[in-house]
Amino acid sequence: MAPPSCVLMKDQIINPQDKFGRFLKDLRISVTDRCNFRCVYCMPKAIFGHGYQFLPKDELLTFEEITRIVHIFVSLGTRKVRMTGGEPMLRKGIEELVSQLANISELEDLAMTTNGSAPLERIQTLKDSGLKRFTVSLDSLDNEIYQKMNDVDFPVSKVLKWVDACIEHGLEPVKLNMVVKRGVNEDSIVPMAKKFNTPNTILRFIEFMDVGNSNGWRLDDVVTASQILEKINADVPIEPLDPNYVGEVAKRWRYKESGNEFGVIASVTQPFCGDCSRIRLSANGSLYTCLFAVKNHDIKSMLRDGSSDDQIAQHIYNIWKEREDRYSQIRSENTNDLPKVEMSFIGG
Ligand code: SAM
Ligand code: SF4
Ligand code: SF4
Repeated sequence: MAPPSCVLMKDQIINPQDKFGRFLKDLRISVTDRCNFRCVYCMPKAIFGHGYQFLPKDELLTFEEITRIVHIFVSLGTRKVRMTGGEPMLRKGIEELVSQLANISELEDLAMTTNGSAPLERIQTLKDSGLKRFTVSLDSLDNEIYQKMNDVDFPVSKVLKWVDACIEHGLEPVKLNMVVKRGVNEDSIVPMAKKFNTPNTILRFIEFMDVGNSNGWRLDDVVTASQILEKINADVPIEPLDPNYVGEVAKRWRYKESGNEFGVIASVTQPFCGDCSRIRLSANGSLYTCLFAVKNHDIKSMLRDGSSDDQIAQHIYNIWKEREDRYSQIRSENTNDLPKVEMSFIGG
């Protein structure tokens, strides 16, 4: 008898591998393309100004649609979900989505990346809804530098309170993301390293990336991972740690004396495409198989045209099987001008 044309059998988990043998493990969901910040490296005001057209509400996936797609991803072996944006806390009623996703028992990790600007009370409501972890973006402890980077005068003191409150609510370790841009916040590296040399936080220094086409990226603006590590080591001695798992994006380090951990995400100078197991879902229901993708795959229309879960799963399976992205490994002057998707559209 001929084998079934559909590779997916009911109740059978088949975790697809792409053209380079990479498994599909990790789903990042952008729940909104809007943000209350205008970080200079992500949503510069010159482009994301008053007249900018964000997605209309009816184009956004509903929470039910997102939950359905997460179930489908889980049937394909995905075990980690992170909500991002834009600013995910701006999506009205996000707690409801969190509780729907928290009910999917196969999910091992349910996290959110936020700028830490929402009212502190929402930490408790999100925890009660089932959120396991927050990553908070914070680029400097110096208020002047921080405000220059978020470009909406948001004070650093409020984000620090958000981090403390996450710890008080037991949502730890809190991961912190610090994008380092040359000439802007290099001097914040060591103070940030010292402040977050604690067991309940893991600070990750991120090389400024050439995502999208609007942040005016230049290689010269990148403070490299080795320059970052050198600066920290000159002040507080550090040593490398083994990765927790294959495909971990941040290279792990620790402060020798305290043993506390931090990380460096060196996507420009030390690309990690070889182990990249991530797929991204935009707020309007398109899949991107790479952060630097120029092409996307519409899933929303399948969610709305009566397609079955098996048909959608098969479609995602086929997309992943065809994947051959490795942008960071082949980055060159020619790739800089490609029409890439914006970071605020698909999340970090
Ligand atoms: N608004 C939320 C936040 O800022 O945490 C979530 C979305 S934001 C796009 C996700 C992460 O991407 C943030 O940690 C941000 O610092 C990072 N990011 C944005 N643009 C970047 C760039 N050009 N290079 C490196 N990281 C960037
Ligand atoms: Fe908004 Fe996050 Fe982008 Fe900053 S990095 S503009 S907070 S989406
Ligand atoms: Fe993954 Fe694309 Fe980043 Fe490479 S460039 S690590 S393939 S998202």
